[in-house]
Amino acid sequence: MSQHQMTVRFWGVRGSYPVPGPGTVKYGGNTACVEISTPDHLVILDAGTGIIPLGEEIVANYRKKYPQNSEKLKITILITHTHHDHIQGLPFFHPIHLGFCSLYIYGPQLLGEDLEESLSISMEPRYCPVRLEEMNSEKIINNMSENDVLILKHAEHAPLLHKQINLNGQLKLKPQDLFITAYHSYAHPKDGVLIFRISMNGKSVVYATDTEGYTGGDTRLINFARDADLLIHDAQYLQEEYTDPAHPKQGYGHSTVDMACEVARKANVDRLVLFHHDPTHDDAAMDSIESYAQTLFPKAIAGREGMVITL
Ligand SMILES: [Zn+2]
Ligand SMILES: [Zn+2]
Repeated sequence: MSQHQMTVRFWGVRGSYPVPGPGTVKYGGNTACVEISTPDHLVILDAGTGIIPLGEEIVANYRKKYPQNSEKLKITILITHTHHDHIQGLPFFHPIHLGFCSLYIYGPQLLGEDLEESLSISMEPRYCPVRLEEMNSEKIINNMSENDVLILKHAEHAPLLHKQINLNGQLKLKPQDLFITAYHSYAHPKDGVLIFRISMNGKSVVYATDTEGYTGGDTRLINFARDADLLIHDAQYLQEEYTDPAHPKQGYGHSTVDMACEVARKANVDRLVLFHHDPTHDDAAMDSIESYAQTLFPKAIAGREGMVITL
């Protein structure tokens, strides 16, 4: 990996619930999780079941490098919202149980509840054998809003959360620093999601899952994603599923393939990854969805587990 590159790796691309089995071996059945790594930083987008195999790999790599656990393992996790398919892997994420690991977790305050409280409630004894507070890692959990900017500087330091208004354009970033902003989309029940933009050395990834499109495209999202190198966008439904009179999906908080391609085109992004696949779409369905998307946006691909994109 060159010194100033971001590597984006997909560990879970499925929406709603995991779908293991012979029909999903090509695209994968794990729920939302994307890893962004640089030589200095490790950032994880969402903690669906895809975070579980990622955690095993992180620990195996760490143990090869530091057999005596002599260095702190620092990981930043960005949570879009706390629906099950975005947090259900967290209790089984190996690093969360390790005393030499520091986890910096950021996400929205939804329905008036702090992120820390929402995550803690999801691991109460009636839902989970180990409480969040009992897990051995150091956990620093903060609300993030669209007025905040998160900056990851040198590997030794904790991420810094700033209010945008306080930055006054004074920020001096080095090529290896990560700069993360958020947009709060309300196009998802019941209190919306955060959409993240992660930038380093002039390259940007936008992660826009669990959001429903508007006629003509979500203008604020199009502006937020403007000129990104990579847009990862919810594309759960085909148009005919979205408008199916017997079971319409409008208002479910997810986009069609057409909506994702429209945002990609209007925002002038370089590449589009379709994400949050419907659990009923097997590999054959995903192949045809990908081909269809490429007729609308030629540099569209359907996200699949194990896929790596370097920026
Ligand atoms: Zn979801
Ligand atoms: Zn959701």
